[in-house]
Amino acid sequence: EYRRVFAADADPAASDAMDLLRQLVQFSDLPLSSTTLRGLSASQYTKMTPIQRAAVPYALAGRDVLGAARTGSGKTLAFVVPLLERLHHVSFDPRLDGLGALVLTPTRELAFQTFEVLRRVGRYHAFSAGLVIGGKSSEEERERLPHMNILVATPGRLLQHLDETPYFDVSRLQVLVLDEADRMLDLGFARTMDAIMQQLGRPDAASADAPLFNAGSDGPPMHSTDRRRQTLLFSATQTKSVQALARLSLHDPEYIAVRDSA
Ligand code: ADP
Ligand code: MG
Repeated sequence: EYRRVFAADADPAASDAMDLLRQLVQFSDLPLSSTTLRGLSASQYTKMTPIQRAAVPYALAGRDVLGAARTGSGKTLAFVVPLLERLHHVSFDPRLDGLGALVLTPTRELAFQTFEVLRRVGRYHAFSAGLVIGGKSSEEERERLPHMNILVATPGRLLQHLDETPYFDVSRLQVLVLDEADRMLDLGFARTMDAIMQQLGRPDAASADAPLFNAGSDGPPMHSTDRRRQTLLFSATQTKSVQALARLSLHDPEYIAVRDSA
């Protein structure tokens, strides 16, 4: 049904881990916050798709993830759920902590769709969420940006704001998502994404002064209290340029590829 590639196949312990993962079928089998679980069930999401079953446990554990699965396989929830859970588990303060999660997506249309999923599933959380997609007045976006906890953005417009918008503080960013990475590269965003990564700084940059994590918090052990910024990269295909982007942006990632069973 699904298959992990690279290191997993060679690791004898991995097959036990795979047996455990196969038993995780529904979202409610995971140690998710009741806030997220309510958002999922209110949105009629109960059973996980294969990419969700394969990717979400690793993302919850704080790992960087490279997930490849065909269009329509449910990649959006595979990052929306871990994103909400991470902000929840680090007790991210919606009023004080600024931007906590950033989702980069190639087109305005995809940004709208992702934003809708985020709004529905995240409806019981207190985090604010916004779109940065160009087209709208950049002035209006600029005023609202410093108040947003989660942004869904297209690369060009986001970079513009990183360069130009005062008080747009990304120093406590907890989760970076590169969605539809193959399409972002196809559309010529490689250099823009490099520039964004430069602006965001090193993945461990947030740890220095951010008083976010309750060290030794007594949440379920599946949740990482690692302070490092987590990056989740999803793609429909695994091209060479996606691999190159992954090498630049991911730290010791778990590679997950879901084979098409249809
Ligand atoms: P992808 O990004 O892989 O192309 P999407 O995240 O856009 O796929 O999901 C494709 C469709 O599947 C959407 O209509 C979404 O609502 C639906 N979907 C995703 N996950 C689930 C799930 N766990 N249960 C039911 N429907 C789902
Ligand atoms: Mg998608």
